[in-house]
Amino acid sequence: MEHEAGLTSRHAAGLFAPAATHRPGDGHALLAPVLVLNASYEPINVCAARRALVLVLKGVAMTEEENGHFLHSARVAMRLPSVIRLLEYRRIPHQSRALSRKNILLRDRNTCQYCGTVLPSSELTLDHVIPRSRGGSSTWENLVACCHPCNRRKGNQFPAEAGMKLMREPRAFNLHTSRHIMRLMGRSDDKWRKYLFY
Ligand SMILES: [Zn+2]
Repeated sequence: MEHEAGLTSRHAAGLFAPAATHRPGDGHALLAPVLVLNASYEPINVCAARRALVLVLKGVAMTEEENGHFLHSARVAMRLPSVIRLLEYRRIPHQSRALSRKNILLRDRNTCQYCGTVLPSSELTLDHVIPRSRGGSSTWENLVACCHPCNRRKGNQFPAEAGMKLMREPRAFNLHTSRHIMRLMGRSDDKWRKYLFY
């Protein structure tokens, strides 16, 4: 069901007028989190719907997914986005991808990537998918969160040799984005999933 975030004609000129001029509840729709994708579809940020709409209206970004809410002015009803994509590729600084134990656990959502158990950071270790003793490197693609029992069971074996399987392929991620995503996950739209966990 679509929620109508209405504006009176009086506010037509000020499409982005302060929330105080909106009906109660409208502010919420304009502040709803929107996932921002790079031109390459890589998630790079999260912003408020109001900001996302400005980027779309300025021709900087295009709407990829809508959130089902409308913003009404006198002449137009604008669909609020849930996911937008920048039209021009933006370079993301390399240091935002710092490889650390903390960031690996954050990426893997404190979930053992073999058995799926969610644990506090103190009860998780990092597992080299290809063991170090067999040439595995310490990279985003070769490190996963792992519980101690799974880590012991796997030992110096490849996952297949130990009869174990990764829940998903480990990959590098953008920490800046992910921090936002973790914070907003509870409120985020299902439409984000295919961009975040592809
Ligand atoms: Zn485990």
